[in-house]
Amino acid sequence: MDERPVALVIDDDRSTRLMTSSLLEQAGFIVEQASDGLEGCDAFERFKPGIILLDVVMPKMDGFAVCEKIRSSSAGQHIPVLMMTGLDDIDSINRGYQAGATDFITKPINWTILQHRLRYMWRGTLISYNLRKSEAKTRALVNALPDLLIQVGKDGIIQDLKFHNAYYNVFSPEKLLHRRIDQVFPDDVSKPIMEHLGLALSKGEMQFFEHKLDLPEGPHHYEWRIVNNGSDEALAIVRDITDRKVTEERIALLAYHDPLTGLLNRHSFKEHLDQAVNQARRNGHYVSTLFLDLDRFKRINDTLGYNVGDLLLQGVADRIQDCIRKGDCTARQVSDICTSSISRLGGDEFTILLPEIKQVQDTGKIAKRIMESLSRPFIVAGHEVFVTASMGITVFPLDGENADSLLKNADSAMYNAKEQGRNNFQFYSESMNASSFKRLELETSMRKALDREEFVLYFQPQVSLLSGKMAGMEALIRWNHPQMGLVQPLDFIPLAEETGLIVSIGEWVMCAACIRNKALVDMGLEPGRVAVNISSLQFRRHSLVNMVKKALEVSGLDPGHLELELTESSIMKNMEVSAKILMELKSMGIGLAIDDFGTGYSSLAYLRRFPLDVLKIDRSFIKGIPEDHDGAAIAAAIIAMAHTLNLKVVAEGVETLEQLSFLREQGCDEVQGYLFSPAVPPEEIENYLKKEAETDPGIRLRPGI
Ligand code: C2E
Ligand code: CA
Ligand code: CA
Repeated sequence: MDERPVALVIDDDRSTRLMTSSLLEQAGFIVEQASDGLEGCDAFERFKPGIILLDVVMPKMDGFAVCEKIRSSSAGQHIPVLMMTGLDDIDSINRGYQAGATDFITKPINWTILQHRLRYMWRGTLISYNLRKSEAKTRALVNALPDLLIQVGKDGIIQDLKFHNAYYNVFSPEKLLHRRIDQVFPDDVSKPIMEHLGLALSKGEMQFFEHKLDLPEGPHHYEWRIVNNGSDEALAIVRDITDRKVTEERIALLAYHDPLTGLLNRHSFKEHLDQAVNQARRNGHYVSTLFLDLDRFKRINDTLGYNVGDLLLQGVADRIQDCIRKGDCTARQVSDICTSSISRLGGDEFTILLPEIKQVQDTGKIAKRIMESLSRPFIVAGHEVFVTASMGITVFPLDGENADSLLKNADSAMYNAKEQGRNNFQFYSESMNASSFKRLELETSMRKALDREEFVLYFQPQVSLLSGKMAGMEALIRWNHPQMGLVQPLDFIPLAEETGLIVSIGEWVMCAACIRNKALVDMGLEPGRVAVNISSLQFRRHSLVNMVKKALEVSGLDPGHLELELTESSIMKNMEVSAKILMELKSMGIGLAIDDFGTGYSSLAYLRRFPLDVLKIDRSFIKGIPEDHDGAAIAAAIIAMAHTLNLKVVAEGVETLEQLSFLREQGCDEVQGYLFSPAVPPEEIENYLKKEAETDPGIRLRPGI
């Protein structure tokens, strides 16, 4: 608005016009005059005044009509019009306001008051003018913004919005206005909106968040800024950021991935590996890195061309991913991580990160699986192509401290694999190579051992200290390995337990033990009961009872001639279920023994809850008797306590006469150990019993003692 505004005075009375004009000029206005209504309307059009002083009673056109006319034009809507009137009746004043007058002053005019009124009106005019101007500016700005503005109440109801065409699909006014946020958006979007709305209102700070919305034309991303707009309402500024997101993703893909296979690139693989190492450092896990290099890949490029080479690399990437996904030997969540942790370092080199592996050997299994998977031919552009790979494996923390050293050493292990004739894998640590191969081989051959009938049962007598006779025998498995010879149970039972093979092996042991014992009974001998070891994995199987029933049925053995040796840990795991299983076995007439007592929970109070018959004192307590006073004291205490619970006590690992006499003094019931006999093949047990039947009762020791 001009610095010196124009004031228009419309009055038919010349003296009033003159007085008013000089007053206005003093106040800084440029003054124009009109002496009747029509002239006044003309002057208004011509001079575009900033303020108008208007007489009411005039010839041709009165002040009310002039005011109405001015107000009806667009330029005259906001101009302050001061009406000067001698008619100070209420009616005229009402008519004046209806016609659009801003204020009134009555004649005869008090010039001092008029001066004040004018100044005051002018100031108001300026303020409202500036306000309108800035409002118009803001509106223009808001309209130019690509954002959607939503005014939303505390209750989540959308009260108003500034709509933008770009949002029509999701955010059309019909869909939004006067509806609640949770009626418009799916849960996973409306919840965060409401949370951020609450925060914006309670904290008064701008809240910011992004979300994705699945639309028929594809996923869209939006960014919300929510600001407090009054105590109970907020303004949300919503922007479609899909383009930016797509670009970001594209950049990430290019920066972190290998464009050919979509796998990670070297840089991001190292990042993942370093992260996994840091995590493993905290929680004590192993992290394996597998470095794979295709054998003689160059030959394929040279003979079939780079296109075929590229396609083959993609095929290899797919197969590796499949192998890792299957991940049956590693935890599920691990295999999920794994899929994102395979990289192509470049050329025909791939690396695989296996975080949080439980056993180092699992990496060997995965390497083996990859080898098997690659051994199937690839059909690439009509060619049948065969590839093999050489792999090197490092394990954190054994083979390196960080990504760089783990990768470097895996690389050198891979070279070692090449030197070994390609198409194989090598651990960086030599010792690991040996043990891992041995384990893998053992596992493979163990799976076949049952069918090939390579397992055999040995038996070790348990001798009664009361009668001096054999009161029973423990069945102990051996593996007659075609190459390794007789393998002791401690060398394969742990692996059988880990792989679950113990379940079928245990079933075989149960049957074989029952059949053997029944055969001895049928020969008229008195072998007593046969004790069979039950591993905790077997015990937790619901089928244990059925398995035992079947063995008794098949063999025809009296259940009273069978005893199960269980460990404390296996029955303590789920005491209620254990008690049920044990009661069922007990009701069949089968004897129940706790093996290796003293090494586990050793809580007789707990054991009282189970229907047990026998407690076997662990070998470790017997070993030092009589010199080891602690061991001796523990053995004595176990015997005494077991007797108060009506349990029979069997001492294991009795090797010397001193041990025997100590146990006898303490009232131990039965003994088992090399002093009498090691575990022997069934024929020897037969001989043992036959000799026992011939000779007088009395304790029989191993020949030579
Ligand atoms: P265990 O149940 O504690 O079996 C007793 C072990 O002590 C046997 O070892 C036996 O040969 C050995 N032993 C006996 N007397 C003496 C002695 O005087 N001195 C010494 N130093 N050792 C003696 P073995 O046969 O090598 O069995 C080892 C473990 O393998 C067994 O320990 C048992 O836990 C497991 N095992 C053996 N057979 C089976 C089976 O059929 N099923 C299951 N689940 N486990 C079995
Ligand atoms: Ca045992
Ligand atoms: Ca034992």
